[in-house]
Amino acid sequence: MKFFENHILNTYNRLPLSFERGDGVWLFDKSGKKYLDALSGVAVNTLGHNHPDLINTITQQASKLIHVSNYYHIEEQCLLASKLASISELSSVFFCNSGCEANEAAIKIAKLHGHAEGIDSPNIIVMEKAFHGRTMATLTATGNRKVQAGFEPLVPGFIRVPFDDIDAIKNIADKKNKVAAIMVEPIQGEGGINIPKDLNAYLCTLRKICDENNWLLMLDEVQCGIGRTGKWFAYQHTEIKPDVLMLAKGLASGIPIGACVVNERAAAVISPGKHGSTFGGNPLACSAGLTTLSVIEQQNLLDNATQQGEFIVNSFKNNLSTVKEIIAIRSMGLMIGIELNQSCGELVKAGLDQGILINVTADKIIRLLPPLILNKDEAAILIATLTKLIQDFLKSK
Ligand code: PLP
Repeated sequence: MKFFENHILNTYNRLPLSFERGDGVWLFDKSGKKYLDALSGVAVNTLGHNHPDLINTITQQASKLIHVSNYYHIEEQCLLASKLASISELSSVFFCNSGCEANEAAIKIAKLHGHAEGIDSPNIIVMEKAFHGRTMATLTATGNRKVQAGFEPLVPGFIRVPFDDIDAIKNIADKKNKVAAIMVEPIQGEGGINIPKDLNAYLCTLRKICDENNWLLMLDEVQCGIGRTGKWFAYQHTEIKPDVLMLAKGLASGIPIGACVVNERAAAVISPGKHGSTFGGNPLACSAGLTTLSVIEQQNLLDNATQQGEFIVNSFKNNLSTVKEIIAIRSMGLMIGIELNQSCGELVKAGLDQGILINVTADKIIRLLPPLILNKDEAAILIATLTKLIQDFLKSK
């Protein structure tokens, strides 16, 4: 297939395929071939493709008002902020357009908090294998050399520790480093669907260390938030609340949006002029966000994510129990990683031939992030197709 990409900057190794339309969990290419979308545009299409309620909201809103400046009050933004505050039990929201921007806002809040505490050069603790984005500060926060290489000098002010390693953080606290915040994904997405051994114990201990040292606990839920793990937010599987919560991807089911949600303590450092965004929180994006959250509620998609996730993972565990090349299957809701003992990027192309869209991250981990509307029949197709793909792939080695 020939694509006319001469004028597209070479930032992605794209697969030789483009889609014409979508319907639910299905995408269709120009020839009419259909593909079960188990990636959701990397955790974005929460409601699948062309959800009627979302189409209705977007068309109605577009015919009324698409964009106005943040110089004015924006009703849809206030409504979405109040909904997010209610489901997160936090207090206020800064809207932007992407995950890295939500993280940039969090990083700026951490710096302001540090300065307010009298630290002249505040640091943020970040994790190995983390992914926080591609802007200069967020790629510095990211724990992957490939993302950083060539962009030196990186941004100062980040201290890196291994993920799920409390002692490493205690060690930093003991040394009286000038820390203002910890920034962590409760479940690492790009890093390989890495879940702490005991999520509740890990986050509770981080919360305690932050409280003892007056640091902010900032959770990057750009990938694992908005229902993906079976609760609105992954931290809601634990007993704690963060000071700052970063969201994007699935929040408006495909309309670009990011959100930095904060409690009162973190909000206190922000005043007019400290931060902003031209597009952030415009009426179109916020109305799409409101509809996404209300469909999740009306259609019980949090429970659905839990149930379909359990069905998928239990089936893989049964089907693949004797396959020694599978090292681990890690999951929470519809955030699923199957780790092989070898590189398995080829599976993505093989999946296209068989009509499923999957992803491989961190070289050896098959990652599934299907839309939250996935039903049992669709899950069964995914399970059967991917089981065979993995078996055939390993036989061919
Ligand atoms: N944070 C996490 C956890 C992510 O997974 C991503 C993207 O994959 C980002 C931040 C960056 O989001 P964006 O690409 O919207 O800037």
